[in-house]
Amino acid sequence: MRPLLTVEDLSVRFRTEGGTVQAVTGLGFELRRGRTLAVVGESGSGKSATGLALLGLHNRLRTEVTGRVEFDGVDLAALDERGVSAYRGSRIAMVFQDALTALSPYHTVERQLTDGYRRRTGASRPQARARAVEMLARVGIPDPARRVQEYPHEFSGGMRQRVMIAMALMGEPDLVIADEPTTALDVTVQAQILDLLADLQAESQLAILLITHDLGVVSGVAHDVMVMYAGRCVEYGPAAQVLAAPEHPYTAGLLRSVPTLHGPADSELVPIPGSPPNLLDPPSGCAFHPRCDARSRVGDLCTTAVPSLLPGSGGRSRACHLALERSTAS
Ligand code: SF4
Ligand code: MG
Repeated sequence: MRPLLTVEDLSVRFRTEGGTVQAVTGLGFELRRGRTLAVVGESGSGKSATGLALLGLHNRLRTEVTGRVEFDGVDLAALDERGVSAYRGSRIAMVFQDALTALSPYHTVERQLTDGYRRRTGASRPQARARAVEMLARVGIPDPARRVQEYPHEFSGGMRQRVMIAMALMGEPDLVIADEPTTALDVTVQAQILDLLADLQAESQLAILLITHDLGVVSGVAHDVMVMYAGRCVEYGPAAQVLAAPEHPYTAGLLRSVPTLHGPADSELVPIPGSPPNLLDPPSGCAFHPRCDARSRVGDLCTTAVPSLLPGSGGRSRACHLALERSTAS
């Protein structure tokens, strides 16, 4: 079966007052129906820019997007704004981090769930309301027929996030792009929302692109994981393999810095030293080199050459010169 989404050589450049920012470079990945791909990295790693570019939501005047984004056989990157908007909100939906800013405070939940739906489908108001109530019930909101008439501020954070997911489901999407969908929530509610997404996926074979800075939420929900640093993929593969035995020093650092469900409960958390690079002036060679504890094992190559993404063990690929040293040494 062909993947629902195939991304090849995706690059995103922003023009800013300070110069051109290379936000994403040469990204490629696949996503099949019923699967979840987690895109993980610190802020500024290019993961949100990737999500926006997939949906054509980037600022077209200031942003240049190149590459191929094939969704169910159609290259979205080649479509104009009108062409992409036919997919947005229907076959591809987006769930954002902060429901309070993504939802309008001035309109009822009913209005926000039904406006786009009615425009796209020509449904009558009662039909659209019935569907909104059904979707609220599906995402676990009690008393949906009453609550559909309320305003976003009348919902708790977790319930608001459920409303956002209900809004995404209105158009029966094949693909949901969820950008930090649980970051603003406490741990218990985070788990509930991630479980909800998994249940919805099991019911309807949804493909989910889960964008997160938190490698801790990936285990148990993602089938595959793509780790990004400074706009590039540094490690990509089955989540179980990558989380159990990371082969890129950045992935290993991320794992040591967050509590995960798999790690020993009492293991000490060690933050990665330094901070993410300035993409207006990225480090030479491997962009991670100023922060990398493995660099001394490689030498000059780390500061002079960008490592390519090469196959590693367990179906993964990773971009690190250390891997090259290992394979030539053995
Ligand atoms: Fe570290 Fe060098 Fe590998 Fe980059 S290429 S992650 S600096 S060892
Ligand atoms: Mg972001």
